[in-house]
Amino acid sequence: MFDHQEIILARIGEIALKGLNRGQFERRLIGNIKRRLQAFGRFAIEQRQSRIWIVPSGEIADFEPILAAVTSVFGIVSASPVWCFGAGQRDDFQVLKTKAVEFIEQHLKDGGSFSFKVESRRSHKQYPLTSPEINVLLGAHLLQTFPDQLRVDVHQPDFVLYVEVREQLYIYNRIIQGHKGLPVGTGGKGVLLLSGGIDSPVAGYMMASRGMELEAVYFHAFPFTSDQAKEKVIELAKQLTAYAGRLRLHIVNFTDIQLTLRDHCPMDMLTIAMRRMMMRIAARIAEENGCLALITGESLGQVASQTLEALCTTDVVSPIPVFRPLIGLDKDDITQMARRIGTYETSILPYEDCCTVFVAKHPKTKPSLADAEAVENGLDIDALVASALVDIEEVHL
Ligand code: ATP
Ligand code: MG
Repeated sequence: MFDHQEIILARIGEIALKGLNRGQFERRLIGNIKRRLQAFGRFAIEQRQSRIWIVPSGEIADFEPILAAVTSVFGIVSASPVWCFGAGQRDDFQVLKTKAVEFIEQHLKDGGSFSFKVESRRSHKQYPLTSPEINVLLGAHLLQTFPDQLRVDVHQPDFVLYVEVREQLYIYNRIIQGHKGLPVGTGGKGVLLLSGGIDSPVAGYMMASRGMELEAVYFHAFPFTSDQAKEKVIELAKQLTAYAGRLRLHIVNFTDIQLTLRDHCPMDMLTIAMRRMMMRIAARIAEENGCLALITGESLGQVASQTLEALCTTDVVSPIPVFRPLIGLDKDDITQMARRIGTYETSILPYEDCCTVFVAKHPKTKPSLADAEAVENGLDIDALVASALVDIEEVHL
């Protein structure tokens, strides 16, 4: 028997299309993978020919959590656990046959049978066999070794044995889809307005998938919103770090502003007035932290405060662009994404949100800018914003 080492092969997508900046994107990606894998031990990570090779330096008992971590790093299109062997004896076809048999045996451990094919690639052109020859000869050898368990199906096989001939030999059968996108840190920084709902975590995920580094802000109105509501948002922010990396959550004490607005504004304009205050405060946090955009989970028409007219009244108070990556998505699709990224179960925990505490039965659905400005008459907006900015709790995740 020849020894093999189990390693991870990860593939990049969009980054490969980058021209002169490609190196910068790749370095950032490798740094992000390194940081994400710190909890699992030590790894050598190398980039060669549009692929990333992740080699553990010690024994790994369970590859699954590592694969999950690698595939959730933005910039990775897919990853495979791979057997790597043949250093020094690569050109000896017997080595490949022996390891392929051992590999199949492992997959037949629990009995059963499956259809299969061999799919090989050869970047080492001096190898004694061509790729089609490897496919045929290795396929025949496996079939001969496991006549009762294997049958060939080149069109829709249950099992594809991938073989790559490079500096060494590589075999694998699984290709796990990644979250694609661009490495976090290559797309500037933005402030995510993170509520406890389903939408805003998904919005943060989407912008992070374009390489944006996130700061998050949550407006907490104790005792109208409970400590459990706050814990829920902290939990959501923590879940986002699986994709967005390190994250700072700014928890703004919103109680005074909320009470001031409740006493000052007509009920049907209250949500809009609160939203405008949130935007102003978030924009100041952005400025203090070098962020160039705000991000919300709004989707056109989803609720009264998300009509085009309403969105216009909140947009104008932000001096920086407001990104709403869910703007054209259906609630069903957003919910599906929330499930996929793992935030859904937390989002549906039944704690109140500050926007639903004093909610009007019939909010104005088509407020004009003049309406929105009129309800703020007599308020010292700058002073309200300033007082909120001195009462912020920071949580580092
Ligand atoms: P979500 O599911 O994200 O809570 P939603 O459909 O409930 O969104 P709204 O409550 O109208 O919609 O909020 C719209 C957006 O405003 C949210 O997606 C979020 O970005 C921001 N937002 C609302 N409330 C808060 C809050 N308490 N703290 C931070 N951001 C908030
Ligand atoms: Mg909400």
